[in-house]
Amino acid sequence: MITTDVVVVGAGPCGLFQIFELGLLGLKSEIIDSIRQPGGQCTELYPDKPIYDIPAIPVCTGEELTDLLLKQIEPFDYGMHLGQEVTTVERQDDGSFIVGTSADQQFHAKAVVIAGGVGSFQARAVRAAGVEDHVGTSLHYSVKDPKVFAGKQLVIFGGGDSALDWVIELADKAKHITLVHRRDEYRAVDASVSKMRSLADEGKIDVFENSKVTEFTGAPGELTAVTIANKEGETTEISADCALVFFGLAPKLGPIAEWGLDMNRKTINVNTETFETTEPGIYAVGDINHYPGKKKLILCGFHEAALAAFAIKQRIEPDKKVHVQYTTTSPIMHKRLGVGD
Ligand code: FAD
Repeated sequence: MITTDVVVVGAGPCGLFQIFELGLLGLKSEIIDSIRQPGGQCTELYPDKPIYDIPAIPVCTGEELTDLLLKQIEPFDYGMHLGQEVTTVERQDDGSFIVGTSADQQFHAKAVVIAGGVGSFQARAVRAAGVEDHVGTSLHYSVKDPKVFAGKQLVIFGGGDSALDWVIELADKAKHITLVHRRDEYRAVDASVSKMRSLADEGKIDVFENSKVTEFTGAPGELTAVTIANKEGETTEISADCALVFFGLAPKLGPIAEWGLDMNRKTINVNTETFETTEPGIYAVGDINHYPGKKKLILCGFHEAALAAFAIKQRIEPDKKVHVQYTTTSPIMHKRLGVGD
């Protein structure tokens, strides 16, 4: 069990900036995200696209903004836990919380900030006959251990970076690879597309474009073949003992909806003075919250994170007045930031 002041659910831009605001007030955080990289929508949905409305940064990409936020929180002693979903938040008798994750990790915190955006990103599922018999055994949505695919007849579905990266990575390790893509244009970087095409030209892999899977065949856990159909409806059966599906990630609100909070459709109602939800000690910032006039913009989430941090500090230290201090001049802030004398 990890003990901390605050658990932040979601490492998107608002969750990352929340760590900064809490750190300035001397509070320690642990941040958790279901995906394997920080940045939320910025890195998952538009890493290379420019953002023009971050104050004092005329332009930066989603990835650059994330890198800058990570740099900004470097002075603080926080913990980051990626690739695990926060599944439970349980209030204790003393008003603190035990937060549990899909990786069976537990955190004990005095407050929780939900910065879950539009939900946790999860792999888009494939739909075809026989899928249920193979998910998790011979059909996977991610690669945990590439060695599992050595010597296998592998079919990889998708046309983005993940699909092509694994085609290239596993080309020499698998017994045979077939790539199946529903279009003939790829979303992966040009270098990967070129590499994949040269592997196909060399006869090292087979590629079926404008095709989609219709059936996974074989006893449960023992895939023997996949059937695909092209646009004309012609079918092809491909021998296979493993399949990898990379249809991208889609956000799902997931367990947050079950934490007993007052919701407004898929968002959480908050008090705009503190950004506290209807549950004392649980706060919500960024795209996940709702209040009159809410705008789902990064700069709005940054403001919300600042006010939530002050409210949390006051909750944790109710007998002390929490003063606003300028980072420019405050010796305490300088000490926390590790700057100056
Ligand atoms: P998110 O970025 O959504 O991050 C939330 C994180 O929480 C995710 O990583 C998710 O995996 C995680 N999470 C959710 N639930 C759980 C759970 N139970 N356990 C663990 N982790 C969980 N905004 C602007 O201000 N300017 C722009 O120019 C702009 N351009 C955009 C362009 C595009 C194409 C898109 C899609 C959005 C754009 N936005 C822009 C919106 C902006 O990206 C969002 O407002 C911002 O990402 C919200 O940040 P967030 O931290 O609240 O949530």
